[in-house]
Amino acid sequence: MKKKTRGTGFVACALVAVLGASTITCSDSTKLPEGYLSQKESDKVLAKTLTIRLDPDLSQLSEAEFETTRLMVEAGKILHNLYEVSRHPQSLTAQDRLKSLHEELGQPQATQNLLDIYRFAKGPIMRNLDGKLEAFVPVEERHPGRNVYPWGIEKSELASFLEAHPDDAKTILAVRSVVRRSTQENLDRDLRILEEFNVLSVLHPGLEADLEALAENPAAKAFYAVPYSVEYAEDLFRVRDLILKAASLMEDVDADYARYLKNRARDLLTDDYEAGDASWVTGRFDKLNAQIGAYENYDDQLYGVKAFFSLSVLVKDPAMSNTITTITQWMQEMEDLLPYEHHKKVRTDIPIGAYNVVADFGQARGTNTASILPNESYITRKYGRTILLRYNIMTNPELFAGRMRTFAAAVDEEFVDTYTAKGDFFRTLWHEIGHYLGPDLTHDGATLDEALEEDSSILEELKADLVSLFLAKRLRKKGYYTEERLRSVQASGIRRLLRRNQPTKAQAYATMQNMQLNYYLEKKLLTFDPAKNRLRIDYSQYHQAVESMLREVMGLQYNGDKAAADAFIDKYSTWDPEIQGKLAKSMKQSEKYRYAIVRYAALGE
Ligand SMILES: [Zn+2]
Repeated sequence: MKKKTRGTGFVACALVAVLGASTITCSDSTKLPEGYLSQKESDKVLAKTLTIRLDPDLSQLSEAEFETTRLMVEAGKILHNLYEVSRHPQSLTAQDRLKSLHEELGQPQATQNLLDIYRFAKGPIMRNLDGKLEAFVPVEERHPGRNVYPWGIEKSELASFLEAHPDDAKTILAVRSVVRRSTQENLDRDLRILEEFNVLSVLHPGLEADLEALAENPAAKAFYAVPYSVEYAEDLFRVRDLILKAASLMEDVDADYARYLKNRARDLLTDDYEAGDASWVTGRFDKLNAQIGAYENYDDQLYGVKAFFSLSVLVKDPAMSNTITTITQWMQEMEDLLPYEHHKKVRTDIPIGAYNVVADFGQARGTNTASILPNESYITRKYGRTILLRYNIMTNPELFAGRMRTFAAAVDEEFVDTYTAKGDFFRTLWHEIGHYLGPDLTHDGATLDEALEEDSSILEELKADLVSLFLAKRLRKKGYYTEERLRSVQASGIRRLLRRNQPTKAQAYATMQNMQLNYYLEKKLLTFDPAKNRLRIDYSQYHQAVESMLREVMGLQYNGDKAAADAFIDKYSTWDPEIQGKLAKSMKQSEKYRYAIVRYAALGE
């Protein structure tokens, strides 16, 4: 890891004696121009920032696989810039200005700090230590529609346009399109791009004619949308070329992966991901995998529909992947073991794999431990979803130390040591498998979403958590878990329940975690020791408590009774200030880091 040393050129430091103790004081840190966060403030932020570095072993890759990985990293760099621009139009220029300033000033700590903040904020605006959005370099404030809607637009303006023009909603609210005002300038630009990259007109039939029609009558109060492939044509063609190059390298090495890359390269120009997603989810790849394209819509705070670009370069973890292969043959046995009557025939070809992250770009960059994609229901209904467990992030020692601090702040010290990073991994693995087991339909054939509405995802996540903990006993019996592994999975099951704030019902994960905590307190698996402000775990009650809750949850799912589900969720969603409140306080006090910078050996970091 490269760590810049403190620049001294602009800092006057003196050794002075204060109350008898020698300290170094700096009369002034580097003075930065107006609009840049001062070093005093940025130091505070970075004191709360953890830096980790990912450097997975690539020695098992063939030359072609290694070169493919390199090409994907190149593609990722382009998509990363697109991501930043799609969030804030001044992103890249602000970063360039900051870099020049850093050089002009002789690389002082003050600007190095801001470069580091830019790195984890993925742009010029961060959430500061008070939880508020703050620009740390001089740029305009950020807007909910980011840069995929007209900059700064209010939702009401677009909403009233859509009300008057309901036929336009399909393109304007499309998952991969940028919304523009119908000005002459915008339309001319888009028509020029279609002329330059004329294959886009072929791939988007009717688009050119539509734009020409709009150009007859431009109006700043009207809106239209163009696909990402038009907005970002030049960059996406470069990404496409890199991916196609990788695909041809993979053709004789891993045919399924090569097909996926080829389809995805084309998807980037059609903005329709069905072909690539189908070959991604149903293909069986050898050593490599990659998440490529615009999937998650968290960044769209205007309508929550636009997906933002990402790319994750992944290599299979050989040992953990073998572990997963072993267990898929036990699927039916595990299904039949679950505490409900109506067992089904289960699939054994679950698309789940353990991967090490080589590098993440765009929306995917960060400390996310698992990805489950795609999202679009018309695709998942036909092909399912792929589950990528991000092993080197899940087991990263520094990130684990943070989770351990939370656990240690909430349980009696005698239980602390049983918790390990592998416990999190196996618990998560079986959580994902848990989604494939248990009831899919109610007794009268309705889907769980239809019958249980907003309760459905709470119960489904709860079921998956409980299945993972319930099957642990059988996995111990089969010798798959050692006694130590079993305990660490169970400890991880408790660590997961600990919340720093009272969840609302809209937060499905947090709600079901808090529900488990209350249930386990009722069943005496957990007890709260008010003298120590800590939880105690009675492992002898673990399996029964989990079985009992799982039986109730699967019963609710099978019966599809919304009112009963509401009552169950209400009953166990309480927040006791004397228990949850005190645990939360203790965990907040133990917090060491708020932010994380992830660096990658593959980027020369
Ligand atoms: Zn889940």
